[in-house]
Order: sequence, then structure tokens, then C-alpha cells
Amino acid sequence: MQSNFSLALHGGAGTIEKHLLSEELEQSYLKGLETALNIGQNILASGGTAIEAVEAIVISLEDCPLFNAGKGAVFTHDKTNEMDASIMCGKTLSAGAVASVQRIKNPVSLARAVMEKSNHVMLQGKGAEQFAKEQGLSFMPDDYFFSQYRFDQLMNVISEDEAFLDHSAKPVFPDDKKFGTVGAVAKDRFGNIAAATSTGGMTNKRYGRIGDSPVIGSGTYANNKTCAVSCTGHGEYFLRAVVAYDVSCLMEYKNLSLSEACDFVVKQKLVEMGGEGGLIAIDALGNIALPFNSKGMYRGWLNDFDKKVAIF
Ligand code: ASP
Repeated sequence: MQSNFSLALHGGAGTIEKHLLSEELEQSYLKGLETALNIGQNILASGGTAIEAVEAIVISLEDCPLFNAGKGAVFTHDKTNEMDASIMCGKTLSAGAVASVQRIKNPVSLARAVMEKSNHVMLQGKGAEQFAKEQGLSFMPDDYFFSQYRFDQLMNVISEDEAFLDHSAKPVFPDDKKFGTVGAVAKDRFGNIAAATSTGGMTNKRYGRIGDSPVIGSGTYANNKTCAVSCTGHGEYFLRAVVAYDVSCLMEYKNLSLSEACDFVVKQKLVEMGGEGGLIAIDALGNIALPFNSKGMYRGWLNDFDKKVAIF
């Protein structure tokens, strides 16, 4: 089925327990997703490109303190915020990514600048920040990224991780407080698709840890011949499973449909490895898939027939 334009977005997947989410907080999450969905819809409806749509959607989610990206990025062990992002265009196969950047207001826009204004695909840390300055991107002071809620999460995760490492203590397995990511995929009126992903990574991460989100092929991939994919979940598993490219390969080499390829990777391969999470994907006809193997995934989607946001 061919649709005019379509898009999907996510705000992270994980152990999202309905009974632990107050009605008010649930509504705030849904509103954040809806706002981003409307922004993408307006861009695509007025003839904007898939790249423009996915960047704008991710900016909206990065600016919302509820999601683990941009303003809402989680804290590292050293009480800093180190963010990763990537973007890819399915028409040209051009891509841009940044890892471990600090104080950048919208890491996805930096990833897009790397794609369009440098000869490289991936920049990290201080070098990426230097490039951001040269490109005139916005930096924010540390307190922009501070929230008591995220700080308390860090303190909880530090004590859980210590209990986990102390073999004499009863293990407390870290839950979704550790993760979160935002992402978008879109198909525009011209038949082109694109994907973008942005994250603060993992609460209490150390030693410059980088997950799948900025890695082209793992957390993000787009190719007009197959699909555009943005992932969310436990990055160490998504990296080893090369999730986004695996979905594309199953379509390209095995002729699987979008939903068959996504279900195989998320509900079979990742489950067998123990990798919790999900992804959003779109193909060049505008078909959408949003599979996850976790309890929930903050998500939204729209095409000519449907427009929805959901968590569980
Ligand atoms: N995949 C991200 C990471 O590992 C986190 C997430 O999507 O929840 O950094």
C-alpha cells in the first residue's frame, strides 16, 4: 500500500510499568510524542523532505525534558551529560553521527551538519564540539541539562550497580531507568526515506561508553531500496546484532517484507541474545513497523489512514 507520506517516532523502550506511571505523567509523555508527531506532519504535508522531518521531530524530543536525549539526557558516572546522535538519508546513503558530546543543545543537528558540511561520517567529543562551534550550533550551560529527577536516577543506579557488583548482596537488576533514546523515521512525498536517533545513553556510564545510537548500521540506517530504521534498547546488544542494517539486509537479500524483517530481528534474534528494546522502521512505500520486545515503547506514527501515539 503506497501512502503519500508517513512517519514514525519513538521516545525509548524499556520496563515501562503502567501501574508505576501516574495518569498525569502518562499524559505528559503522550503530549510530548504528539507534539513531535505534529511537527513532522506539518513539514511533510507542506512538501518538506524526510531528512527535514526526522531532524525536526528529534529536536522536539531532545527539547522535551521527559526523554533521554538533549535536555533530558541522563547523567554519566562523573555527573556530566554525554550525548550521541546520528542521521541517515535513504536516497543518497549519506550519514552523519556524533558521540560523547557535551552541552550541545541539539545533537541531531550536529549529526546533520557532519553529514552535510564535513567530509566525515562520525565525530566525537572535543573535536565534534569544536566542529559544532564552527558551524554556529547552540551550546547550553550545564544547568540546562540538570533535573533533580535525572540526578536521583543516577544515585539510584549507582547503588543498584554497586549491589550488582557485590556478589554477596542480593542482585538488583537495573531497569529502564538506565536507558532511553529518541528517534524518527519518515517517508516524504518524493518517495525518499530517512532516519535519525539521539540519546543521552546509559545512566551511570563510564570510560566514554558509547552505545548503538550513533553507530550507522546498528542504531540508525536508511536506504531507499529497503527501509529506514531507528533503534532503542540495550545498546551493547544492538551493537553486536547490527540491528538496523540487519533489518535492511533481510529485506534486500532475503526479500522479507518490512514487518517480517523487523519481527525476526526484534522478537527472535535479539530475544535469543537477551537484548531488550525495540525499533521503528519505514519502507519506501510508507509501510511502518514498530516492534519491541520490552514491556513498553514510547511511540507514535502517522500515514494517510492513521495517526496515533502509544506507550504500552
Ligand atoms: N540504545 C541506547 C544506548 O544504549 C539507549 C536506549 O535506546 O535506550 O545508548
